[in-house]
Amino acid sequence: MYFLTNNPLLRAPGLVRRKVLVLDLDETLIHSHHDGVLRQTVKPGTPPDFILKVTIDRHPVRFFVHKRPHVDFFLEVVSRWYELVVFTASMEIYGTAVADRLDANKGILRRRYYRQHCTLDFGSYTKDLSAICSDLSSVFILDNSPGAYRSYPGT
Ligand SMILES: [Mg+2]
Repeated sequence: MYFLTNNPLLRAPGLVRRKVLVLDLDETLIHSHHDGVLRQTVKPGTPPDFILKVTIDRHPVRFFVHKRPHVDFFLEVVSRWYELVVFTASMEIYGTAVADRLDANKGILRRRYYRQHCTLDFGSYTKDLSAICSDLSSVFILDNSPGAYRSYPGT
């Protein structure tokens, strides 16, 4: 932290345009499962970090959400270095609820993109990074699914 606090450019954030870090949600920042899933995806007895109640197609669904270990610390640190953008191929109603909980009123996950911002390509969703920033040399993406950014092999 010595380096960061003593760098005058980083102490004056307005002087440097921060690069963009695009973050996926499912299997990157969190893992979730919902009512009615029979296959066990977490160790039995592991309590979720939070439960979301979402209405999908007029059916109430409960999502049991497990945060990746230390994700709050991770977000706090990278939010000092990058402009954070959430980009999930999930439905907005679910993605926004997860992002709200991870943001926890800190205002670090304000920019969000969802399934409707993806392109359906051979049955899977590709994230259109050009919607975020026209200068792709300033964009990083952290995503468990390489298919999400296959349109941008250099990113
Ligand atoms: Mg994912």
